Amino acid sequence: MFRSLRQLTRPDPASNRSLLQYVKSNTTCRNATTHHRCFSATNRRHIMETTGFTENQMTVREAVSTLCAKFPNSYWQEHDQNEEDPKDFHAALAKDGWLGIALPETLGGSGLGISEATMMMQTIAESGAGMAGAQSIHANVYATQPLAKFGTLEQQQETIPRIISGEWRTCFGVTEPNTGLDTLRLRTTARKSSDGHSYSVTGQKIWITCAQVARKMMLLARTTPLEEVRKPSEGLSLFCIDLPDPSSREGSGLDMRKIKKMGGRAVDANEVFFDNYRIPADTLVGTEDQGFKIILHGMNAERCLLAGEALGLGYAAVARAAGYARERVVFGRPIGANQGIAHPLADAYMRLEAAKLATYHAARLYDQSTAAEKEIAAGGDKSIGTIRQDAVGVAANSAKYLAAEAAFTACERAVLTHGGMGYAMEYDVERWLRECLVPRIAPVSREMIMNYIGEKVLGLPRSY
Ligand SMILES: Cc1cc2nc3c(=O)[nH]c(=O)nc-3n(C[C@H](O)[C@H](O)[C@H](O)COP(=O)(O)OP(=O)(O)OC[C@H]3O[C@@H](n4cnc5c(N)ncnc54)[C@H](O)[C@@H]3O)c2cc1C
Repeated sequence: MFRSLRQLTRPDPASNRSLLQYVKSNTTCRNATTHHRCFSATNRRHIMETTGFTENQMTVREAVSTLCAKFPNSYWQEHDQNEEDPKDFHAALAKDGWLGIALPETLGGSGLGISEATMMMQTIAESGAGMAGAQSIHANVYATQPLAKFGTLEQQQETIPRIISGEWRTCFGVTEPNTGLDTLRLRTTARKSSDGHSYSVTGQKIWITCAQVARKMMLLARTTPLEEVRKPSEGLSLFCIDLPDPSSREGSGLDMRKIKKMGGRAVDANEVFFDNYRIPADTLVGTEDQGFKIILHGMNAERCLLAGEALGLGYAAVARAAGYARERVVFGRPIGANQGIAHPLADAYMRLEAAKLATYHAARLYDQSTAAEKEIAAGGDKSIGTIRQDAVGVAANSAKYLAAEAAFTACERAVLTHGGMGYAMEYDVERWLRECLVPRIAPVSREMIMNYIGEKVLGLPRSY
């Protein structure tokens, strides 16, 4: 069993084991709750209440926090200002096995759940790395899930171990400029060749994170025209395709252009253009025309991860603001002595704590329903499958919404607490405020979550 923080943070060099292996070997009871543990891996002040998390989650939090401490805020400031990919951060996480946290052990992953992966993403954002740090690995953790579940053994064995080791990176290509949130009407097509050996992809994607550095893209495209399907959710297919590096893109039918953006500038976001781009038929993941069902499976997991990332940003911002409010003296006393400064921060903290409960509740439901699914598939008793998918959906969407709103409140108040210094790069809070808009917009907007709750929970008429 894991005994001390020293043991965790300084694994025996002779054994050459990574921190993640420590997590795996030092934790045996996934669902056991744990007592509060003093969090002292770094000098930073962590304010989240950790009572009630599992031993696994706390071990992940401590180990990831220790790793992130090697990438201080100055690293993220520079990479943001220079729009430079944090490739050494990605490599450090890969080296210790973190990218495979929620991937099967048979493919080199750790087989942990979304509850642990959410904690990992939160810890990364909370370290000061913010959304940039989280987004530099997000798709590798999340977009690989459909491949692990629906891909052929060949596809899995070719790609997943390379993603886990950091040799390859991946991105997720869904959003399109002309259809936006109306995903079912996306216009990118993949037409099968007459010999059945390949598809030809034509269309455009937008906002694709990390496409410049990714070797693979999980691409959603229409394989049967909308007019020929019974429901718009049919006729879409998922592919795991190669992205040629810039030197061999010329004439390939694939091109991309970086988007200048407000925050998270260390990671690239792109428009991607396909013009009769040829992909082998064996890049299809799962059954043709069933791609939407396949990605739907992972959407609740992604909402949990995003909620964790938002929480991380929010806690980092409130902790930083409280520190400043304790030290900054104006009118002969610390500004934190003014309730006009203290109360908004206390309120922001409580909003984060509430969103935290919603987030880890959703992640737990997700993991329990996935475990039940696996057990039933292996011939287990069907009556164990008592968690309805729509309950998981409501929990995951609510968590993403609440965490994103709480993060925005926290980051805005952190900037205001700093007065003019809140506007200075050096104090980080301006970077976090710019970044905290992302969980409000992506992967699904606040408005669409409210549409969903209005319709599915309150029984109101569908508004779109
Ligand atoms: C930094 C960043 C990274 C991203 N990374 C990726 C990525 O890696 N891969 C990927 O595929 N996508 C990515 N996205 C895209 C993201 O998922 C979309 O931006 C998001 O889903 C919103 O779609 P849209 O921008 O087209 O908005 P639109 O669909 O144009 O919507 C615009 C506004 O109208 C509102 N609206 C639209 N319809 C309704 C309605 N019926 N009722 C109420 N309100 C409505 C929306 O809520 C929104 O506020 C990223 C986006 C950002 C900003």
